[in-house]
Amino acid sequence: MARVIKNKELVNTRLAANYGGWMYCEKCNENIGYLCYSTYDKLELSYKCNCGSQGSVLLDFEDSRIGQSCNDDLVVIKNRFCCSKDSEPLITILDKKVLSYEMKITCKSCERIYQKQKK
Ligand SMILES: [Zn+2]
Ligand SMILES: [Zn+2]
Repeated sequence: MARVIKNKELVNTRLAANYGGWMYCEKCNENIGYLCYSTYDKLELSYKCNCGSQGSVLLDFEDSRIGQSCNDDLVVIKNRFCCSKDSEPLITILDKKVLSYEMKITCKSCERIYQKQKK
């Protein structure tokens, strides 16, 4: 079932599909991570690629809920950040490909907003 996008802002970044799949730095074409299509409600990501390029992604949907901040950490299952409440797989950031990043991602199923960063 396709979702209706509300906001989509990609800076120096390319997505393999409309609102998910592999994410690539547009300057060096390296993949920097993977966004799961159907499990997130909103993503705000900014990162600095190993090549020095600064990229960002903002995505949400017409039916996205506002969500609630939480202090829990995402859990890592097979390289993927997952919701610690319901284990929904959300996103992979390839740590070795980026110098730093900051993200906020909302789990669609429990509406919790996770924050994660690497400095
Ligand atoms: Zn790059
Ligand atoms: Zn969840």
